[in-house]
Amino acid sequence: MKEKLTCKKCGREGADDYPLVTIRTMTVRNGTGAQKYQALGEVLSVHLCSQCVDAWISERSKPRPQYLKAAKLPLLLIAVAITVHFLGLESVIRWVLCLLFGGFGIAVAISEFSRVKRETAEIRAGKGSFTRDHMIEELAASLLPAKNQDAHLTYLLRKRVLNEKQLDALCKEYSISKKKLASIRSYLLITPESEVNKGLKAPQLPEKKKGIFTAKRS
Ligand SMILES: [Zn+2]
Repeated sequence: MKEKLTCKKCGREGADDYPLVTIRTMTVRNGTGAQKYQALGEVLSVHLCSQCVDAWISERSKPRPQYLKAAKLPLLLIAVAITVHFLGLESVIRWVLCLLFGGFGIAVAISEFSRVKRETAEIRAGKGSFTRDHMIEELAASLLPAKNQDAHLTYLLRKRVLNEKQLDALCKEYSISKKKLASIRSYLLITPESEVNKGLKAPQLPEKKKGIFTAKRS
């Protein structure tokens, strides 16, 4: 008899099992920019029912709540611009600061609104970077820890990682190094599932930076 799985989101029985692969990303910032170091994290499973997946997709495909969320930063910048206007600074400085904050606020608003418009259209169509599988990964990530120590955690469906044809899409969707993901795929293909979590290594940092990152699993 099939085991009855409980949905991690709603707690109802009848959920599906989604094996996941965690990717740990450690970002080291230096004077010239940021360097990313990635490694395989824990392999785990999340149970989700189809109603919760459908509800997540439906919620994410609505532009309105996301416009409201995306408007927060631009509104804050515009509020700063208005505040600066009434600070009683010398007129040239006042106008320069107003234009700077106001202009930046408007630029952020335009870019965020077009992002939400494009994303929600793609989610509704189940196309581009927002396939049903991607949305399952998003929902799983919303229910699992986002960080482990200093490493950011990304959750990918194991079946996608094992599918060579999906590697390019995964790298694009989550900014993962293709070389790293290909080596993780090869490792998962040859390693028994029960052994994977035993052999985890930290992202490979340059020698001098090793002190700041220790990969301890939660
Ligand atoms: Zn559910």
